[in-house]
Amino acid sequence: GKDISLVNSGKLTTCTHLPYPPFQSKQGKKIVGFDVDIVDLVASALHVKQEIVDTPFEGIQSGEDLNTNQCDVAAAGMTITEVREKNLDFSAPYFEATQALLTAKGKRFTSLADLKGKKLAVQQGTTGEAYAQKHAKGAKLVQFEDLALLLTAVKTGQTDAGINDNGVLYDYVKDNPDTAVTAEFDTGESYGIAVRTGNDALRKKINAVLKDARADGSYDRIHKKWFGT
Ligand code: GLN
Repeated sequence: GKDISLVNSGKLTTCTHLPYPPFQSKQGKKIVGFDVDIVDLVASALHVKQEIVDTPFEGIQSGEDLNTNQCDVAAAGMTITEVREKNLDFSAPYFEATQALLTAKGKRFTSLADLKGKKLAVQQGTTGEAYAQKHAKGAKLVQFEDLALLLTAVKTGQTDAGINDNGVLYDYVKDNPDTAVTAEFDTGESYGIAVRTGNDALRKKINAVLKDARADGSYDRIHKKWFGT
């Protein structure tokens, strides 16, 4: 039978912010990606289907979407941080990330110091933005609402560089050889799946699913599918 006691409405609703490939993006009408596949494992353990809700990252990372019951979980390549933990609860880590720098090829910016007086694209509400605010003091930060806008700004030269998570940037340069990742910053981030504060039953279920997925090879299969290794 369906284990609907842990979810709102007979399905597992997931808040995310598109596009953030390879974690979540649209392929035709379908939303696909690493996070989608991981949360599908949770849905299937609950004997329900996952339904994805695309919503601004600010409402996800602030806990607002979860705490007003917009969704049961949030899976958005979201870094576990102390500040966020005040407003939502995270699963165990399911992915490691670090901030990285993207430039158009030919621009030789390999550090934040090189960006003094230059335009650096940041994505609103993210750990990359916070890192740039703290460590790229001489740069002019230009805020973008989503990853796609940030990537286009860098590629077209609207900004001199962009900061974002290494996984998404390496995924982008594969198909955009006119861009390059020129630096990685050791921010040591871990992604977690979030639930509303106090929803321990669902958080524990997610942790059990993550543990099983690592043990039975499904985590590795999903990783290989989206990262090639
Ligand atoms: N990992 C980053 C953060 O949590 C970026 C997440 C995102 O843009 N979806 O802020």
